[in-house]
Amino acid sequence: TYIIGLPCVDVKDRACVEECPVDCIYEGNRMLYIHPEECVDCGACEPVCPVEAIYYEDDVPEDQAEFYDVNVQFFDEI
Ligand code: SF4
Repeated sequence: TYIIGLPCVDVKDRACVEECPVDCIYEGNRMLYIHPEECVDCGACEPVCPVEAIYYEDDVPEDQAEFYDVNVQFFDEI
């Protein structure tokens, strides 16, 4: 899955939402989240993010590692 990280917080540009072919990017209060089971790893969202907030799960910067769980937990709560 792809992961949305810290740069998205309070930005929510939504360019990624337009690109995603399976509509698996959802809007929360302060950021967008990628559904880890619906994401088909196409990578289309990553280059269109103006703040470079989207990472493949193996490429999440170490200082944003918690955002993997942040994305997964968002969907546990809805
Ligand atoms: Fe959607 Fe593809 Fe991005 Fe996954 S990698 S969130 S399927 S655009």
